[in-house]
Amino acid sequence: MTAAAAAAPAETFDALGLSAAALHALAQASYQKPTPIQAKAIPHVLAGRDVIGCAATGTGKTAAFVLPLLERLASKQLHRALVLVPTRELANQISEHVERFGAARGMRCATLIGGVGMGGQLAELRADPQLIIATPGRLIDHLEQRTVKVDSVDALVLDEADRMLDMGFKPQLTRILQRLPRNRQTLLFSATMAGEVAEFARQSLHQPVRVEVNTSGTLAARATQKVYELQQTEKTALLITLLDSSDDSTLVFTRTKRRADKVARSLERAGLSVERIHADRSQGQRERALDGFKNGTYRVLVATDIAARGIDVADIGHVVIYDLPHVPADYVHRIGRTARAAATGRASSFVAPEEMDLLRAIEKLTKTPVPREKVPRDSEVFQRESAAEAARKEHGGGGGGGGGHHARGRQQHHAKKPHGSGGGRHGGGGKRHGGGGGGGPKQHSASSGGGSGSGKSVFSGGPRRRR
Ligand code: AMP
Repeated sequence: MTAAAAAAPAETFDALGLSAAALHALAQASYQKPTPIQAKAIPHVLAGRDVIGCAATGTGKTAAFVLPLLERLASKQLHRALVLVPTRELANQISEHVERFGAARGMRCATLIGGVGMGGQLAELRADPQLIIATPGRLIDHLEQRTVKVDSVDALVLDEADRMLDMGFKPQLTRILQRLPRNRQTLLFSATMAGEVAEFARQSLHQPVRVEVNTSGTLAARATQKVYELQQTEKTALLITLLDSSDDSTLVFTRTKRRADKVARSLERAGLSVERIHADRSQGQRERALDGFKNGTYRVLVATDIAARGIDVADIGHVVIYDLPHVPADYVHRIGRTARAAATGRASSFVAPEEMDLLRAIEKLTKTPVPREKVPRDSEVFQRESAAEAARKEHGGGGGGGGGHHARGRQQHHAKKPHGSGGGRHGGGGKRHGGGGGGGPKQHSASSGGGSGSGKSVFSGGPRRRR
């Protein structure tokens, strides 16, 4: 368990008042003891209180509300719970928790997310689910079509409330809240509790108990953070150099969809097994990318921030923040992707001169300066990649097969052990949520060159994605 958990009162799940059925499911999931947010929140939720949970992703906040809500639903203290989330991926992650901890007790759940057909969701709704997990837009679609009724919802969870507000969901949230019974239990989770979200919580909760985990301390204890100060044009060379120096599975964040595509192409040219996830990708593509990343088919996943919310991969070794986020709290969320509940990981941020103000804002929020690391400009890989990048620019940025600039071969790592909690459980996600189709990602040819006669890549031997 992490240092963060060690700092919490020494509690067991047993001591939190959970039922034998819940304890059995926890043992099955190999959860040995509660994380701090779980230890603090679960007793209040079980007691029926409104709770504000100040916790970033990666702290175990999902189980902190799923476990006690399942208890209250199973014992009929609650009739129906609604969980609102900012993204589809987070919705899927929560429904996996419900399955993990509630399936044996016959808990039914409907996951209402955009980007997939209505058919599967209508079937789930017809089964009279005790839990509804939804993104605000799709829930409103269902409300308008009268395919869902929320008048019997007596527990509401607003998960990642800060993100929902940042993403402009306030009008939808207000509309949904107006439709819910006033007499209900409300739980609100958020990485930050400043400004708009504090006001929103004041309006939506009734005499809440506030529980929090020390986010900045948690981060420092869990992930090794580093900042590389460099020029924009050096970012790709540094990324490839870092990927070359370890075998870690790596999640890369870029600011825009186009940059995600561009970075993914560069990594592909370098022979890495890489996938992308962003808003222009269909739900099926996103799920296949995530599944492939979780099961080790793809070593690298390049993502924009919004699409990456809710990615729950237990064993991400390295998070690379290729572009600093504009909203400082997003940094905390991104770091939360690595060093999940029981692991340790590292996080590397690439900071160009024009991003220094953003870095200062992040350091102010986390109250911790992030250590600077020297950019390995002397390294052979860095020099080679910088030269290749410059050459590509000079020749009009053309893609091609890489042009023979990668000198030494290196074994591909795509077939590492699967990572991600739950293994096969994730594979079925596509089925449940409609568009996924055949579960796992397609395997691609194992030839190392993208086109005939292209140069040998740094990471030779692995599968190359074809578009
Ligand atoms: P979350 O913050 O809810 O996104 O959870 C982060 C990760 O930690 C997920 O992979 C959970 O399955 C895992 N996790 C949550 N609570 C525990 C626990 N008490 N013991 C072990 N793993 C946990």
